Amino acid sequence: MIEIKNLTKTYNKGKPNQLKALDDVSLKINDGEFVAIIGKSGAGKSTLMHILGCIDNYDSGEYLIDGVNVAEYNDRKRAQIRNKNIGIVMQDFALLEKYTVIDNVLLPFDFSKKKVNRKIKEVGMEMIYDKEVSKLSGGQKQRVAIARAMIMEPKILLADEPTGALDEKTSSDIIALLRKMNEKGTTVIIITHDKDIAESCDRIIEIKDGRII
Ligand code: ADP
Repeated sequence: MIEIKNLTKTYNKGKPNQLKALDDVSLKINDGEFVAIIGKSGAGKSTLMHILGCIDNYDSGEYLIDGVNVAEYNDRKRAQIRNKNIGIVMQDFALLEKYTVIDNVLLPFDFSKKKVNRKIKEVGMEMIYDKEVSKLSGGQKQRVAIARAMIMEPKILLADEPTGALDEKTSSDIIALLRKMNEKGTTVIIITHDKDIAESCDRIIEIKDGRII
């Protein structure tokens, strides 16, 4: 379903500080997989994630979703593909602190409260749906971020260090929640530094110096 062929990404092209962040990367991720992407800091994991999430472009190579080359679309169409197919969860949650749980899940899109409530329930946050996000724990915030990422019912959930700011017990709860999403059919791709989390995934993709090893 996701296929990357000979993908290259260079930052600061043509400048003295030019840097090849991804170097001839090819990979395939099938529908319903639960995959970890690992590698040292600076290896190129986030760059790959941003390209997979259609929030950054690349120099050469191909990125296909369901056989369709993403580069063939203009920005507007690419944004549509992203909204339809891809949910993104970040380490720092990227929530609006001064808004309630329900508003954070509701705000990006124009959905019925019923549907939003269902998603909030799915991540186990229904008891506090009207609480301000600034008053939540890290684990609770990440649950809200997952509910928001899942509201469009994306086929793919990308999580960039989703447990990076959480303690061990909370981390394993969040991974269990992502696994639940996966069991319902969502393809889950997690960037992680955590060896235990990577080993709990079905497949590990390791990146070193912009290459898959
Ligand atoms: P990781 O997520 O594995 O830590 P990144 O994808 O963030 O790695 O970074 C890969 C390389 O690209 C690093 O050397 C980093 O410094 C560089 N890099 C990342 N983003 C930018 C950017 N916006 N401009 C210039 N260099 C960048």
